[in-house]
Amino acid sequence: MSSAFDAVEVIRTKRDHEVLSDDAIRWVIDAYTKGGVADEQMAALLMAVLLNGMSAPELSTWTAAMIESGDRLDLSGVSRPTVDKHSTGGVGDKVSLILAPLVAACGAAVPQLSGRGLGHTGGTLDKLESIPGWRAHLSNEEIVRQLDEVGAVICAAGEGLAPADRKLYSLRDVTATVESIPLIAASIMSKKIAEGTASLVLDVKVGVGAFMKDRERAALLARTMVGLGGDHGVATMAMLTAMDAPLGRAAGNGLEVTESVEVLQGGGPADVVEVTVALAHEMLALAGITGEDPAARLRDGSAYAAYRAMITAQGGDPDAPMPVARVIEPIVAKRSGRISRMDALAVGVAAWRLGAGRARKEDSVSAAAGVVCLAKPGDEVEEGQPVFELHADRASVLDRASAALDGAIDITDGPVAPGPLVLERIGS
Ligand code: URA
Repeated sequence: MSSAFDAVEVIRTKRDHEVLSDDAIRWVIDAYTKGGVADEQMAALLMAVLLNGMSAPELSTWTAAMIESGDRLDLSGVSRPTVDKHSTGGVGDKVSLILAPLVAACGAAVPQLSGRGLGHTGGTLDKLESIPGWRAHLSNEEIVRQLDEVGAVICAAGEGLAPADRKLYSLRDVTATVESIPLIAASIMSKKIAEGTASLVLDVKVGVGAFMKDRERAALLARTMVGLGGDHGVATMAMLTAMDAPLGRAAGNGLEVTESVEVLQGGGPADVVEVTVALAHEMLALAGITGEDPAARLRDGSAYAAYRAMITAQGGDPDAPMPVARVIEPIVAKRSGRISRMDALAVGVAAWRLGAGRARKEDSVSAAAGVVCLAKPGDEVEEGQPVFELHADRASVLDRASAALDGAIDITDGPVAPGPLVLERIGS
């Protein structure tokens, strides 16, 4: 591309609240990805964007430039309609593991290219890697074949997909610019659009255990992402869902796989079923599939059959026993009454300290570690009754994990009415 641009001038433009031209945006993203713009210059630009924002057309071009920094998967050969889901991440959020095969069992193809977890929310790949033999890395040909034959793929996003995002995200992480809504929206949507899906449902989590703590900011992020999907020809809608308490009872890689299988076999916690079925309805509507009842597909075993096929196709053994923790320790209720609050963030941090999550990208995670919530908000407990179970590979991590859970629940004498899980629909 021409060098008619100068990074200092691009930074000054955004610093002074002026509008960046399409060519300037495309140049700066391309030059940064290739090493022609320095980290300190991009850091200044990111901070200017965080402070001064971007107009919708600027953001659309920024996102296009991020997509164009790498490959765009071609799924046009897949015989079924393609539809994916992205969650902004929550504690115990194992929905993808259930939803992908469920929607496949209803006739769509779900190309879910995922990342690993960092911090207190677990990554879908980390969860699936607790299944013996399962492999996360597939070639493009394998992805397309599996989408045709099974209807669902969950695998690692290749290095070639939106490489600008990898560089930008690392820089945002160390320059206090992660929180910018346009930058978050461009980061998420560039990867999802590059993945090649025709339509997309976004699960934007809101609450103490979510990336977005505040409902207004979550709704703004959702609207921004829905707009970007539309700009780039991907039919997109978003649901805001509550993430104040953990979703389901299990938080931790293998523990969440086990709970997902319970749901796929027609059982499992009601909150996981509710969110999964609501998202499945939206995905099927976007894919143009009518007359399917996802709840029935959980009950009749067809979603479970699709799950088994999805795991087997990637070398996993769906019948292999899940890894079991060497140490399991209960945490008990300090008084009798009804649980009125359970802090999802505290549960996520405890699971992380037990070994389920990583602090740095290169860390490994434990397949067996995590927290099981033996009771949830709305449940009655007796003093001394176990409320949480800590699962770990070694006893030395228990104290710090249990410290994270100090004050994590409230118990009251009065009635408790847990709030709704699905808060709002945005788009389509
Ligand atoms: N997830 C992403 O992929 N990017 C962000 O910027 C934030 C969350």
